[in-house]
Amino acid sequence: MNNYKINTKCVQGGYTPGNGEPRQIPIIQSTTFKYDTSEDMGKLFDLEASGYFYSRLQNPTCDNVAAKIAELEGGSAAMLTSSGQAANFFALFNICECGSHIVSSSSIYGGTFNLLAVTMAKMGIEVTFVSPDASEEELDAAFKDNTRAMFGETIANPALTVLDIELFAKVAHKHGVPLIVDNTFPTPINCRPIEWGADIVTHSTTKYMDGHGSAVGGVIVDSGKFDWMKYKDKYPGLCTPDDSYHGITYAEKFGKEGAFITKCTAQLMRDLGSIQSPQSAFILNLGLESLHVRMPRHVENGLAVAKFLEGREEVSFVNYPGLESNKYYDLANKYMPNGGCGVVSFELKGGREAAEKFMKSLKLAAIETHVADARTCCLNPATSTHRQMTDEQLKAAGIPAGLIRMSCGLEDKEDLINDLKQAFIAI
Ligand SMILES: *Cc1c(COP(=O)(O)O)cnc(C)c1O
Repeated sequence: MNNYKINTKCVQGGYTPGNGEPRQIPIIQSTTFKYDTSEDMGKLFDLEASGYFYSRLQNPTCDNVAAKIAELEGGSAAMLTSSGQAANFFALFNICECGSHIVSSSSIYGGTFNLLAVTMAKMGIEVTFVSPDASEEELDAAFKDNTRAMFGETIANPALTVLDIELFAKVAHKHGVPLIVDNTFPTPINCRPIEWGADIVTHSTTKYMDGHGSAVGGVIVDSGKFDWMKYKDKYPGLCTPDDSYHGITYAEKFGKEGAFITKCTAQLMRDLGSIQSPQSAFILNLGLESLHVRMPRHVENGLAVAKFLEGREEVSFVNYPGLESNKYYDLANKYMPNGGCGVVSFELKGGREAAEKFMKSLKLAAIETHVADARTCCLNPATSTHRQMTDEQLKAAGIPAGLIRMSCGLEDKEDLINDLKQAFIAI
């Protein structure tokens, strides 16, 4: 599929049926696979042959869908995970262990922030958070001898900051570590971080990739470009023999293109078991088949809503990287010339009360914690996800009490704007 355009890859990538085989990716709803001899199966356990034996590690439906996403991102290999959280954890834990250090943008999804700052800290993995706007010198200063990865989000959820991928990749490579980018919001339709130097890309496929709010999932894509063997001492898990696999050295046996995903499957999926169900992978693939048609509409609606809100006197500010007034406008244009996503945030002058009343008055936009699906939804962090915080704490965290995050779906933009208009009348 590699010589086809991305639109074609969305529809037909990852799976090419043979004569008389199902046209659609089949759901292989089987935990286990049958072999004629123990010897045949033994070869799979020794990673001498590729094939399936148990769906906790690998399943054909999941692999077909992962292969499509690898093609979309321009990577060498990919694997599905049970959620976006699992994808980010596995991507990091595949190259970090107790005593390792990670440099991460501070502007990331709340769940990932907790994963790094709390849960991975308990495992003895330390993190230094840097501003997404940090200069090269400031980024350099965050690195230590035990740094093993750098992390950021292309467009951060919910702050909507834009990552300078080229700069982050340059600094990561200068220090001999890979850059991992969570590309959930733009999807490969609007940005392909590997083309800008990222080494590993992750997604919460729960969002735009599925796109219908139907299935929780994640994916990890390896660019196949990072030279693990060049930094042997840093990545013993990839560059020295794995005793739990008869002394295989992943980076030698599977090369730059295959080592990362093979180890992540063979060790982490085996031991931690966070695979996506074949049923969810099938649903994800239905979403992927129209991703290239849906993303431009999400962008069109997001931009129209952002522009409308910018002209309203009840609104103190609008945050959308596609607006010329936005701090990240130039970076967004560089990395996402066709636009980023459909998520817009804005602050109402009336604060918490106005936000609550405003959202209650919306008829099309439902109040949800979700983002990035076909139906427009909204959230006021102060009265929901961040309700334990005081107005002062909220302000300090960059989430003022009157802030509303709106995820523009695929409805008609005029209807969305009219819905907002009538809600403004209500407050
Ligand atoms: C939602 C989200 C996640 C977590 O994904 P889940 O599928 O909910 O586990 C990670 N990163 C980003 C950017 C997200 O928006």
